[in-house]
Amino acid sequence: MSLLEVRGVRKSFDDLEVLRGVDLDVPSGALVAVLGPSGCGKTTLLRVIAGFERAGAGTVSVGGRLLTAPPGTHVAPEKRRIAVVPQEGALFPHLTVADNVAYGLRRRDPRRGRRVSELLELVGLEGYERRMPAELSGGQQQRVALARALAPEPQVVLLDEPFSALDAALRASVRADVRAALRATGATGFLVTHDQEEALSTADVVAVMRDGVVVQAGTPEQVYRAPHDLDVARFVGEAV
Ligand code: ADP
Repeated sequence: MSLLEVRGVRKSFDDLEVLRGVDLDVPSGALVAVLGPSGCGKTTLLRVIAGFERAGAGTVSVGGRLLTAPPGTHVAPEKRRIAVVPQEGALFPHLTVADNVAYGLRRRDPRRGRRVSELLELVGLEGYERRMPAELSGGQQQRVALARALAPEPQVVLLDEPFSALDAALRASVRADVRAALRATGATGFLVTHDQEEALSTADVVAVMRDGVVVQAGTPEQVYRAPHDLDVARFVGEAV
């Protein structure tokens, strides 16, 4: 069953129509990679799903709950149970790792410390509670950002090119760990990337975007073996 449903979403900035009727279904607990060239509208779609941008038309729902349905419905970002992991620089530099992870948790929650430790363990950083962000590598910082995103138990985690600042060797291991952490929590993942290899190797569902629409969505194997058209074939084929 689909957890995240996007139907006919449109978004314009002045005269520029960036999203031109996006349809997308993401099954519960799956990781979808939204793959497409720079400028095709991936980040704008992520921002509409997060509630940071208002759509001009169409609907977004999560678990059957309508979050976006212009002109009336627009659930505020903090009420969506959706977390965002940005590209980089996501951590508060003056807070310890533990305080960064605990940021979205209730202050008085007696299980706060335990929960922070569990989340750090989940992302492979057990014992890092007292470190400061500046003491961590880029990959470790992204792991902390993921732990912080997972802390309030979101239904959906949106990841905007989260590995782009990492070097190639590190990227593969962080990617695998992010995938494992999402699996372990049962959160549904939505990963924006322009990297074909990353999408094909990491995701359960690959949604290929072009000029503001999803032109094809399927398993990595379906998209790779039976591309919708020559453009998709060329774009996806750049992975090999
Ligand atoms: P992608 O993530 O696929 O690279 P984006 O969603 O970031 O694409 O951008 C798609 C298009 O929308 C680009 O042409 C970009 O310049 C434009 N765009 C994005 N955000 C804004 C904005 N706030 N105002 C005006 N144009 C924007």
